[in-house]
Amino acid sequence: MKDTNCAYCMREENPALYQKFGYPVCEMASGFLYLFREQSHPGRMILAYKDHADDIAEISAEERKVFFDDAAEIARIMHKLYAPKKINFGMYGDTGHHLHIHIVPKYEGEFEYGGTFAMDPGKFYQTEEKLEEMAAEIRKELGK
Ligand SMILES: [Zn+2]
Repeated sequence: MKDTNCAYCMREENPALYQKFGYPVCEMASGFLYLFREQSHPGRMILAYKDHADDIAEISAEERKVFFDDAAEIARIMHKLYAPKKINFGMYGDTGHHLHIHIVPKYEGEFEYGGTFAMDPGKFYQTEEKLEEMAAEIRKELGK
């Protein structure tokens, strides 16, 4: 079921909602992949589940496997394209109650390395041109 106030549910009907924070990359088996516009962590992405589920307890074991397999594939590509030292996987949902995972690359000695990441540092917003360039590379790696 869709929530008309939810940016992820309204991806097609009202793209302006997600475009405030995300840049579309591609559809995956379990949902939709976005680049986070705030790129203080170069390569930061969000995988949003295909349905409006509140958290991982609301989906089946099979659906969870597909979701986490997608997250792992994104992490693999993130390591290949951006070579972070560490990747953080963040699932909170305090404000948006639609299952999604923040996949955040951390670079040794750089921003927030060695600690938790801020939800939105609000420091560096990548240009549309660069976001599309990054999205194209990611799609290519994913075979999309
Ligand atoms: Zn939703």
